[in-house]
Amino acid sequence: MSRRPVAQINLAALQHNLQRVRELAPNSQVLAVLKANAYGHGLVRVAQALTEADAFAVARIDEALALRTAGIVKPIVLLEGFYEAAELPVLLANNLQTVVHNELQLNALEQTSLDGQLKVWLKIDTGMHRLGIEPTQFSAFYRRLWQCSAVLPGIRLMTHFCCADELDSTRTDAQLSLFEQLISGKAEQRSLANSAAILAWPASHAEWVRPGLILHGISPFSAQVGQQHQLQPVMRLSSRLIALRQVQRGERVGYGGQWQADKATTLGVIAVGYGDGYPRHARNGTPVWLNGREVGLAGRVSMDMITVDLGPDAQDKLGDEAVLWGPELAIERIAVASGTIPYELLCNITPRVDYQYL
Ligand SMILES: *Cc1c(COP(=O)(O)O)cnc(C)c1O
Repeated sequence: MSRRPVAQINLAALQHNLQRVRELAPNSQVLAVLKANAYGHGLVRVAQALTEADAFAVARIDEALALRTAGIVKPIVLLEGFYEAAELPVLLANNLQTVVHNELQLNALEQTSLDGQLKVWLKIDTGMHRLGIEPTQFSAFYRRLWQCSAVLPGIRLMTHFCCADELDSTRTDAQLSLFEQLISGKAEQRSLANSAAILAWPASHAEWVRPGLILHGISPFSAQVGQQHQLQPVMRLSSRLIALRQVQRGERVGYGGQWQADKATTLGVIAVGYGDGYPRHARNGTPVWLNGREVGLAGRVSMDMITVDLGPDAQDKLGDEAVLWGPELAIERIAVASGTIPYELLCNITPRVDYQYL
């Protein structure tokens, strides 16, 4: 029996979540966001399972080329666009669509002697202040893109929300109205909504939604879990119990001796650590699912192991399976207990973990 951590990926749950996005945004097309190895779930396998998506989005060109190499033919959008004119023939040859968010990109498109036309998504910064042109630049960019012979007619218009996961923030409405005001009278297709906006801001759905996290069954709101939105967790991360030991009251456990037994108890050692991507900052008491109950982390997370308090009457045996997150135990809770977000937990999974696709 393997003692390596295993990430089981439930592709039926993934398809269910895409269906759920369709229910939530029935009039929108779905641009499934698969950056960062499909949020740690496996870029190609996830793309192959999402046959019902309308298009895919990735952050970088190498991610898009990996999809093309694997035989994925759906449209692919580069969310950060291209960085230099030399990449334009690669985009054309691989049928990649590009976001345009700055003047350098626009100039490159105007000056290229490309033997064909690219699909362009013009990104407007309405308040996130990361990528995107200034609202004041919009008319000029719009006109120049329309006139540009390297650009396919029918550009798309997009923006990104900074605070869609904050349900009482006024900023999402402010970004939405600035966007609508800027583009009013234009017939182009629009895209604004990430996962949080798909769930909480239906007025922003427009022609294209851009779900990432919710496709993987996870809530973007820190106080909620995916199940509350009829989403199903796609990943189940588990490992095995590799040691059991008795400790007396007052004994300390792990690096720094930072956890102390307040009574005689049984400790379990599980073969997963920060070298696999389990968060090193998980606090004492962070839940682990073992034999039908939750047990709490006891002491610091090591590179290859964690220790949990099984209680004085533990019946657990060597080799028993422990679930770190998955259907039995929401990853959202592990993120809160570790002072981070589910996105980061997923991206941090290392190649030491075995992937199994169901
Ligand atoms: C990552 C990303 C998304 C998806 O965000 P989720 O919160 O995972 O749904 C959508 N749009 C852009 C521009 C992104 O960078």
